[in-house]
Amino acid sequence: MNIHEYQAKALLRSYGAPVSEGRVVMRAEEAKTAAGQMDGPLWVVKAQIHAGGRGKGTFKEADAGEQGGVRLTKSVAEAADEAAKMLGRTLVTKQTGPAGKQVNRIYIEDGAGIQAELYLALLVDRQTSRVSFVCSTEGGMDIEEVAHSTPEKILSFSVDPATGYQGFHGRRIAFELGLEGRQIKQCVALMGTLYKLFVEKDVEMLEINPLIVTDEGDLKCLDAKMGFDSNAIYRHADIAALRDETEEDAKELAASKFDLNYISLDGEIGCMVNGAGLAMATMDIIKLYGSSPANFLDVGGGATKEKVTEAFKIITSDPNVKGILVNIFGGIMRCDVIAEGVVAAVKEVGLKVPLVVRLEGTNVEQGKEIINGSGLGVIAADNLSDAANKIVAAVKG
Ligand code: GDP
Ligand code: MN
Repeated sequence: MNIHEYQAKALLRSYGAPVSEGRVVMRAEEAKTAAGQMDGPLWVVKAQIHAGGRGKGTFKEADAGEQGGVRLTKSVAEAADEAAKMLGRTLVTKQTGPAGKQVNRIYIEDGAGIQAELYLALLVDRQTSRVSFVCSTEGGMDIEEVAHSTPEKILSFSVDPATGYQGFHGRRIAFELGLEGRQIKQCVALMGTLYKLFVEKDVEMLEINPLIVTDEGDLKCLDAKMGFDSNAIYRHADIAALRDETEEDAKELAASKFDLNYISLDGEIGCMVNGAGLAMATMDIIKLYGSSPANFLDVGGGATKEKVTEAFKIITSDPNVKGILVNIFGGIMRCDVIAEGVVAAVKEVGLKVPLVVRLEGTNVEQGKEIINGSGLGVIAADNLSDAANKIVAAVKG
């Protein structure tokens, strides 16, 4: 689960990490009062969306020369103006994809003077199963680009959980970043704070880009992207409360309400499968037969008829779906339950695209009877290749 920059900064502030003063607004009328609570001379107006690259992003229907999603302004009035201009519009960045994201919240921040922009991140490194620090002097820009063209400019190391964070970790980062004097001490303290926050709140990823050296020569977190381990959210009511459902894919959101493992993709064949491994294999074989999956969906072992109906509705709500492949190996899951769910769903939402069903395993005969006796135009398949072949052929016409 991801949160907004302003929420991440509030969390950082509560742990004692240096961040700028700021106010969030949801309506244009609030912007002037919010900006008026800061002294200037610089007010930074920042679109809040769950995506990076806002500064270099562009708004849909932008005026010629209009700035992106991070705007530096010189007065309260100008800050309020820019906030009003951005609210409600769609911002497209490298990370949003071409559809962009609607800006519903604006963060107005007391602008900082910048001497240097640095890069810092903490993440769970799956190779070492440890929390890793990543840092670079090349902050403020696209870290993927730095990693690609000048990988030697990135330092990364993991922390042994037996010792936890130690001062030498912070000093190693400070020297890599070329910090001097009191900045080294600030860095050692800040890295310890971030590590503590990371572990205590079950953070999955924390990226500060840029971490800056201010004009006064102090460290400050100027941006903050934060994602949490969804499986641990139940332990943190305070974090769960920060969830902004408007930022999430509507289909994924609906799926999460029914405890379905659904990930929306951009292909044309909707998939309903039980078991993550079989779901992966199904997506692969669709590719092999020349098409591409519109989603990953694992209905799980204990799916009920209601859950299957819901899953089917989510798949058919995707306008890109030109065909559906139901691929079930009934082990714990019974084929007749799946069949009942599919039939109920088709009766409820209708079927405007070809549907291929491949059932195998527990109660397969009952399952097939239910499908065949339903009078719905379902195409039956015998095995995985046959199923993929049939659905791709049906879709390609
Ligand atoms: P992102 O584009 O989504 O990563 O948004 P950031 O919060 O990183 O802002 C983009 C850029 O705007 C930063 O790299 C800075 O160069 C600039 N910026 C953001 N806040 C300030 C500020 O307080 N003062 C100054 N001078 N520049 C800022
Ligand atoms: Mn940034």
